[in-house]
Formats: sequence, C-alpha cells, structure tokens
Amino acid sequence: MIDLSIANPDNISMVELNRKLIAEKNLNVLTIKKIQKLHFLKNKFIKKMELTDNNRLLYILGQIITTIEFKLQALWGFDLDISYHKFFTLPKCKCPKLDNFDNVGVKNAQIFATNCPVHFLQDETKKNCINKLL
Ligand SMILES: [Zn+2]
Repeated sequence: MIDLSIANPDNISMVELNRKLIAEKNLNVLTIKKIQKLHFLKNKFIKKMELTDNNRLLYILGQIITTIEFKLQALWGFDLDISYHKFFTLPKCKCPKLDNFDNVGVKNAQIFATNCPVHFLQDETKKNCINKLL
C-alpha cells in the first residue's frame, strides 16, 4: 500500500492525503507523488513565511503558494478556482479570517485587507497586484 503521508520541513508527518478522494478521482501513483511533493514545498514556504517579516518576501511566497494551490487543484482533477484557496490561513496574512472562511467556494467573494503583506505589495507604489491572481 502506498504511503499517503505529507512530509513537512520539520519531518513530522501529521497529515495524509484523502484515500477515498484518491480512489474517487482514480489518481495514479505518479500524480499522488506530485501532490505529496507540492504539499511538502507548500509547507516549506509556509515555514519560511513564519520566519520572516520581510514584506516583499511574504508577498512573493504568497504568490508561489497560490500557484502551488492551482497546481494541486489541477492534479486532483478539480477546476482551477481561487475561491477554494484558504489564503487567509497563511502566516502574517491580515485578511479577514471569519468572513473569508464563510466564503470558501463562493466566487468573487474573497476579502483582502490592503495592509496585508501577503496579498498586497507593501511598497512605495502600493500597487494592487491581487488582480493578477484572479
Ligand atoms: Zn492576506
């Protein structure tokens, strides 16, 4: 039987991929391995976010994680849909938690805080780059 655990940078495996969903989606071993690798990378980047207060780095890591989330949706055979991303759970994110949690899966209902270093570039231009993600 294939190992479905998801490794994290601390080498403590706490989560396993959903065996029933894997069967339902008829995922092959190669796809499962890719999903595990992406979860590992995501956990690694989340750890980096926890350890930095550099706004530019937080923003870049947030974008990388969004890309990983889309890749995961594709590998699982889901539509690429940002409304299912739990972006508000990322470290240092200042976007509203409860309202966004209620809106998971609801199109165009995500609420971003302009002072969030993860989802808005906090530089002198104050340029809103979130539209590039949507
Ligand atoms: Zn945020």
